[in-house]
Amino acid sequence: MYEAYFTEEHRIFRTAVRKFVEREILPHVDRWEEEELFPVELYRRCADEGFLGIGYPEAYGGTPCDRFMSIVHTEEMIRCGSVGLVAGLGSHRIAMPPVVRMGTEEQKRRFLVPVLKGEKIAALGITEPDAGSDVANIRTRAVRDGDHYIVNGAKTFITSGCRAHLVTTAVRTGEAGYKGVSLLVIDGATPGFSVAKKIRKIGWNASDTAELAFVDCRIPAENLLGGEGQGFYGIMANFQDERLFLAVMAHAVAALALEESIKYAKQREAFGRPLSGFQVTRHKLADMATLLEVAREFNYRIAARMEAGEDAVKEVSMAKNFACRACDRVVFDAVQLHGGFGCAREYLVERLYRDSRILSIGGGTTEIMKEIIGKIMQL
Ligand SMILES: Cc1cc2nc3c(=O)[nH]c(=O)nc-3n(C[C@H](O)[C@H](O)[C@H](O)COP(=O)(O)OP(=O)(O)OC[C@H]3O[C@@H](n4cnc5c(N)ncnc54)[C@H](O)[C@@H]3O)c2cc1C
Repeated sequence: MYEAYFTEEHRIFRTAVRKFVEREILPHVDRWEEEELFPVELYRRCADEGFLGIGYPEAYGGTPCDRFMSIVHTEEMIRCGSVGLVAGLGSHRIAMPPVVRMGTEEQKRRFLVPVLKGEKIAALGITEPDAGSDVANIRTRAVRDGDHYIVNGAKTFITSGCRAHLVTTAVRTGEAGYKGVSLLVIDGATPGFSVAKKIRKIGWNASDTAELAFVDCRIPAENLLGGEGQGFYGIMANFQDERLFLAVMAHAVAALALEESIKYAKQREAFGRPLSGFQVTRHKLADMATLLEVAREFNYRIAARMEAGEDAVKEVSMAKNFACRACDRVVFDAVQLHGGFGCAREYLVERLYRDSRILSIGGGTTEIMKEIIGKIMQL
């Protein structure tokens, strides 16, 4: 169906990920959602399957491949029905690219290798209690003291932050504004580093989300990525793939919600016929399928353009907004179609409805995407 994007290799990989999800995740995922955590061993299991290394250089334990391999991985992982689990297992995907892009050989070996082996958990710490969308205004300060930086401040909403061994952290080393922002990798065992709070959320429950505190943390200067003041560029470069993958997650959630809805509509009866016997139900399903198809196709197209080396900042922002809106609509209708059962924990669409809500906030909100689109269009 999608020959333009996916090869035989992608298809073989899809089967492998699907089997892994069915074997290792689906039997336990409801419990992990209720417990609001998945076992740490799952990182190692994913590393053993080669999933953590997708897209990273071979020299550090990765498997170089195109974005479509990562898309296959994301689509199949989402079939476990817990976006939180996928986000938690994938926090390295936002934490480690700055190391690859900006790090020295020594830093890549020290930080990236153990993460790709599933031995260490990595998180990305940008958002602060007083600065989210306004990244250039972060306040966590890193002051140089000989061979170290002394870090003071706080981060919030950090995916995998509760048990991260490494946090790629945005810190202020210089003047106000974006030019004073740097990226420092902070070891979770550093004295003065603590998890101030585990944040309970509307969805993504299987992943831990942390508020982090830094009090006089002494961080070796050799943990700085790139030079002082290069952090903002690193963060912005990182956002493009993060946003593409949030868009992919959105279309994958919508696909699952549609699948569940079609099954339910054929099996549930009302007024002497299956729900699918009503034209209004068929039209609802047709609308859901249309939104999904358009969102997915656009995401693939943008991924292909990024693969070709095109700058697609505007289009990635559009893809994220479109796919998230499509997903919100599809999960809303999926719950509606399930009636009361759509509101019950036992039904997958209930979780998808909650999980979908976060996609248009994380990685840059809908409004920030529109600001980017507007700026590029010189509106
Ligand atoms: C589950 C979850 C996981 C997350 N994981 C991570 C993570 O791992 N690492 C990390 O660093 N962050 C993470 N985040 C944080 C996320 O990136 C931020 O929540 C997001 O960027 C928005 O920032 P904020 O929450 O401070 O909202 P604010 O920036 O305060 O925005 C509040 C509202 O105002 C709007 N707004 C702000 N500025 C403008 C503007 N210029 N024009 C119009 N409207 C505007 C926003 O769109 C939003 O609707 C996560 C968030 C969630 C919910």
